[in-house]
Amino acid sequence: MNEFDRISKNFSSSEGKDLKLKALNGFKDILPGEAELWRQVEDRARDIFARFNFAEIRLPILEKTELFARSIGETTDIVEKEMYTFVDKQITMRPEATASLLRAYIEHGLYVQKPVQRLFTIGPMFRHERPQQGRLRQFHQMDVEILGSANPRVDAELMAMGTMLLSELGLCVSLEVNSLGCPACRPAFRENLLSFLESRQDALCDDCKRRSITNPLRVLDCKKPNCRSIVEDAPSILEHLCPECAAHFSEVQDGLRQLGIDYSLNKFMVRGLDYYCRTTFEFTTTDLGSQSAVCAGGRYDGLVEQLGGPKIPGIGCAMGMERLVLLLLQKEQKIEGPAEMDLFIAGLGDAASRIAFSLMQSLRKEGVRVAMDLDNRGLKSQMKQADKAGARYVLMIGDDELAKNTGMLRNMATQEQQGIPLGDIRILIETTTTGRHV
Ligand code: ATP
Ligand code: MG
Repeated sequence: MNEFDRISKNFSSSEGKDLKLKALNGFKDILPGEAELWRQVEDRARDIFARFNFAEIRLPILEKTELFARSIGETTDIVEKEMYTFVDKQITMRPEATASLLRAYIEHGLYVQKPVQRLFTIGPMFRHERPQQGRLRQFHQMDVEILGSANPRVDAELMAMGTMLLSELGLCVSLEVNSLGCPACRPAFRENLLSFLESRQDALCDDCKRRSITNPLRVLDCKKPNCRSIVEDAPSILEHLCPECAAHFSEVQDGLRQLGIDYSLNKFMVRGLDYYCRTTFEFTTTDLGSQSAVCAGGRYDGLVEQLGGPKIPGIGCAMGMERLVLLLLQKEQKIEGPAEMDLFIAGLGDAASRIAFSLMQSLRKEGVRVAMDLDNRGLKSQMKQADKAGARYVLMIGDDELAKNTGMLRNMATQEQQGIPLGDIRILIETTTTGRHV
């Protein structure tokens, strides 16, 4: 089993045993080894968010159910069947971050401090879906939102940021863009689409038969092959845009060209949430089967007002971290191991072990990464542990050394050893540590 199989299947040594207490279906542990890869993704994202002037916001996991019903839309898949709701309390574990972020934005009047707010948040989301590779019930998103600007350049900038992050992670994805128009241009399109769908009712799947009455746009992004081929001939929203939306969309594309961002148009991308208007986009990959979207988002100019705030436009997108990590694993991306230890202290005998124990604490206070064997095993076993921990130095303290308040310091790379006063250990390690302040 290679690294990818091991991590993507969450292989554990107790596999096969009849364990009663296992994680819930669709909920996954992120074990050491994989966790480092997650941190790399997150660090790179934070670096890029800072380059684009985004500030972090941290939000609660539970919100009133009404928040999601009102923003995401009553007839969307998420609200209809994917939410984890405590029905007796009318609260829900967030299925996405935009609604919560906007709730906080309005509640704390963040629009007063700055006319344009650029915010990001990273964390778990919950949807009761059918679990499969790249689709979990607890999954993680990196979510970014720009509030306070309807400027099409903002849309281009956000997509440029997504492109930069995915390319700096070494991933090969494509960007698809569409415009969903606004409340002025959508009714005519809806009418046209409705009569098209009515003429093909019999051929649609049961879900789409229902959707064509409750939420006809949804039919356009049905994943079933038969429905897909039917909607090929459906009318396009792009041909129904009002002059303002058409101009906005053309400027978005102009912005993308100016920033050198490759994209293609996808007139059927409607996205699974009701709050979108005008620009919508998705970054997709062909390497994850039907879980092809790694990042998706769009503009939601009426949403702040709809949630009780002022009339403020906004745009945002969310990246699915599980899918990014899976892609990196498929590429057999080299995973950085845990941070290497500076020093392993091998105390030999009870008295030396006691000294080592308190020396370890004072060195840690100084910023040194130190480990020791608390169980006082033999020197051979301790040297093995030091090797496994990737320690750059081992300090051996035995009875002889202890009497002189010294230790024997071994450089694990060169195998050189020297006796040193215990008080000098930090200086010695510091002067030989490059690239890290201790
Ligand atoms: P999909 O079409 O794959 O169901 P979506 O349109 O429901 O995606 P969004 O709500 O736009 O997804 O969320 C943004 C991103 O979050 C997706 O592009 C995907 O990368 C990720 N994502 C969404 N749902 C899941 C899930 N259940 N498990 C893992 N990642 C997910
Ligand atoms: Mg979905």
